[in-house]
Amino acid sequence: MRAVSYPAPGQFTVADLADRPLAAAEVRIANLVVGLCGTDLHLHQGHNYPAYPLTPGHEIVARVVETGPGVDTVAVGEVVAVDNVVYCRDCRRCKKGEFNFCERRRSMGTKLPGGFAEHAVTLAEKCYPIGDLPLEAAVLTEPTACALHGLQLLDVPVGASALITGAGPTGLILAQLLRHSGAAKVVVAAPTRAKLDLALRRGADAVVQVDRHDFAATAPVVAEHAPGGFDVVVDATGVPAVIEGLVPLTASGGTLMVYGMAGPDERISLSPFEIFRRQLTVVGSFAQTFDFARAIDFLATGKVTAEGMITHRFGLDDYRRALDTLADPACVKAVVEPNGPVL
Ligand SMILES: [Zn+2]
Ligand SMILES: [Zn+2]
Repeated sequence: MRAVSYPAPGQFTVADLADRPLAAAEVRIANLVVGLCGTDLHLHQGHNYPAYPLTPGHEIVARVVETGPGVDTVAVGEVVAVDNVVYCRDCRRCKKGEFNFCERRRSMGTKLPGGFAEHAVTLAEKCYPIGDLPLEAAVLTEPTACALHGLQLLDVPVGASALITGAGPTGLILAQLLRHSGAAKVVVAAPTRAKLDLALRRGADAVVQVDRHDFAATAPVVAEHAPGGFDVVVDATGVPAVIEGLVPLTASGGTLMVYGMAGPDERISLSPFEIFRRQLTVVGSFAQTFDFARAIDFLATGKVTAEGMITHRFGLDDYRRALDTLADPACVKAVVEPNGPVL
């Protein structure tokens, strides 16, 4: 089977790899639609501690094509969203039920072979049948699950004012979830007009066009939307200067969530006095745990919609172009269809 394969950071080929035999509880899947995101760009650069040879791809919708010994929860032919994260269930944190901090956490597309391949192997328990959900919505299950994880950590106060920076898929999904989670006002700030228009159609109450590279210059326009600051602020850009610029926009007693992924060597400067005096909470949100079923529910009811999100589709052979597309302002969500067009 053909797969994107990195022997080392920054270099990959589309290689012919052997299908490995299935162990107990495993299934083989044929990948139908696999979303690309900023994480794949970080992986391309060797960030995020991947294991080599690396096949990336962690936002996977696939058809089950073979079941291993003892599998009775999914059947051959079923189309599933695949939870990419595997816990050891044996370390100190797993034994406390804190799976996201598993000391031997592995995920498909980073330490385990991922979805940018014709086939992959996963555990049957990681497969969530999508039912009637269209594939273009189902491919948002993983990013929606991650957004739900963030939302749960945020614990949005009823009637809160909320600000999201970034209007990529994550920003758009978060805007929709915040709208349904008690926020009275949701403002999205991002550089690209077309994405802001999409945010308005996806539940934002107001949008502000900002300059990512000089966020401080446009911050006063954002501030006008919440005199006294936003109760809840979520950065979905991972840009250090933006995150720094969000501190003064956060209301006293409010929460700033670092959701977007920055490079491991990036730094921001915070005033300890300001955090102390204004009782600010700075919280991170990493990945998700057991949020797939709820994500599918949000997508199935249309409270999170994929409409207008998938702007680019690629085959496996176009992986280089697919990565380049992530930098294109016209790209909202790019996907790879490893077994040919299905959307
Ligand atoms: Zn992702
Ligand atoms: Zn563990």
